[in-house]
Amino acid sequence: MARYVFITGGVVSSLGKGLASAALGALLQARGFSVRLRKLDPYLNVDPGTMSPFEHGEVFVTDDGAETDLDLGHYERFTGVSARNTDSVSSGRIYSNVLEKERRGEYLGKTIQVIPHVTNEIKDFLDVGDDEVDFMLCEIGGTVGDIEGLPFFEAIRQFSQDRPRGQCIFMHLTLLPYLAASGELKTKPTQHSVKELRSIGLQPDVLVCRSEHPIPEKERAKIALFCNVRPDSVIPAYDLKSIYEAPLAYHRMGLDQAVLDAFGISPAPKPDLTRWEDVMDRLNNAEGEVRVAIVGKYVQLEDAYKSIAEALTHGGMANRVRVKAEWIDAEIFETEDPAPYLENYHAILVPGGFGERGTEGKIRAAQFAREKGVPYLGICLGMQMAVIEAARNLAGVADAGSEEFDHEAGKKRFTPVVYHLKEWVQGNHRVERKLDDDKGGTMRLGAYSAVLQAGSKVAEVYGTTDIEERHRHRYEVDIKYREPLEACGLEFSGMSPDGRLPEIVEHKDHPWFIGVQFHPELKSKPFAPHPLFAGFIKAALDQSRLV
Ligand code: GLN
Repeated sequence: MARYVFITGGVVSSLGKGLASAALGALLQARGFSVRLRKLDPYLNVDPGTMSPFEHGEVFVTDDGAETDLDLGHYERFTGVSARNTDSVSSGRIYSNVLEKERRGEYLGKTIQVIPHVTNEIKDFLDVGDDEVDFMLCEIGGTVGDIEGLPFFEAIRQFSQDRPRGQCIFMHLTLLPYLAASGELKTKPTQHSVKELRSIGLQPDVLVCRSEHPIPEKERAKIALFCNVRPDSVIPAYDLKSIYEAPLAYHRMGLDQAVLDAFGISPAPKPDLTRWEDVMDRLNNAEGEVRVAIVGKYVQLEDAYKSIAEALTHGGMANRVRVKAEWIDAEIFETEDPAPYLENYHAILVPGGFGERGTEGKIRAAQFAREKGVPYLGICLGMQMAVIEAARNLAGVADAGSEEFDHEAGKKRFTPVVYHLKEWVQGNHRVERKLDDDKGGTMRLGAYSAVLQAGSKVAEVYGTTDIEERHRHRYEVDIKYREPLEACGLEFSGMSPDGRLPEIVEHKDHPWFIGVQFHPELKSKPFAPHPLFAGFIKAALDQSRLV
């Protein structure tokens, strides 16, 4: 039976709870324990799949096709443990399950209430897979005191009582604000936050205190006293230059020791931190810099492309070079020549996206990269745009476009080189979709295999011809354009195993131009950079030596 660490936050949001959870997971692994991380989000959306990336940041897709919170990306990047659909839940999902059961008559005529019906549903979710790992780390989204969060806090309280003594601990993150005028760190908000937590029956065992300034011993003792936490379990968390410092920094501050102490695990197994020392060595001792332009739509909020930003950093680590990624709004290229903008970069990445806005600009960015021999990585929509560019400018399909844009506009304007996928095979069964299906959860989602053409650039990059990558899209490049496009040099170098769905395209006579229908960024780790990102940055490095 797993031990449970519940991670909550107070005072303000965006304290880095996800990162602290992920770093703790990495540290427990370094001590030889197996871990799984889980996120409970209080919002009422059933999942983040339908939320705007501007609002919620990236949607992280799991192998088994769940659309989840971007914190699950941090969990995977720090622990290497692939998340599952049972690792992410929202109030929306919980309530929807409860209401479905009620409609089916499963509650046998009882009055349905938050306690026990909603809390039981949450506890069932917490239970899943508890016999598989040593530690289950469960992060509750939002801050203590949020109305939507209450059922989750109540459920974890009950859960810890249902389990044998000593199986569950609570870790709470807060902020110590600094008052410049008096030169003081203030502990009162932390005291109030813990008071709020205790009023709903939760006593934190470990307190993680974010602070921009060193926390004097005196303040640490004061927090311990007022919050009823042991002094060595008040863990300072200072700002870091890179998120990948978090495991080593938290270890220095005693986080993993405090957690093991709270469980009474003694003597604690010694940690092996070489993986993280190597990661830091690669980050700190990078030589030179390559500049990558990311031509996208959701450029105002960096979190919208979180995994891509991280995967580029990993690609830099693989080549021991710093990567400077800059975001350019694709719409600019609809009215302006891309050359003066893009000439300053060693590589161009066009990420995934939805809707027509900005797509003509992305097509022009792909054209620039193809014509000028600049390394190009097109991800999902970025691949579709590269194919449309080749269809228009090389294969003579002047009005090539995607059915997505015609559907959105409600009129037919394009020849659909990219069309709406109505059926495909997943494992042993056939999946069918219609254009007017619900938006939520109806895309081609999760891990699918692809077969790469031997001798292609992409097979060389991967070092194999059989791969499996995560998908999240509704539209697909039409196979009937394979022949005319290949005749113009755009090879279909990766296909679904049944040969029906193009997964990868590449320009034969180009130093490095690859478009992929899937999202390689989701599987990249700092200690195992994704081959496509390692290869892309290597190509950018070669390009930087040319110019
Ligand atoms: N909008 C495109 C589709 O649905 C691409 C999706 C994406 O880039 N993730 O096929």
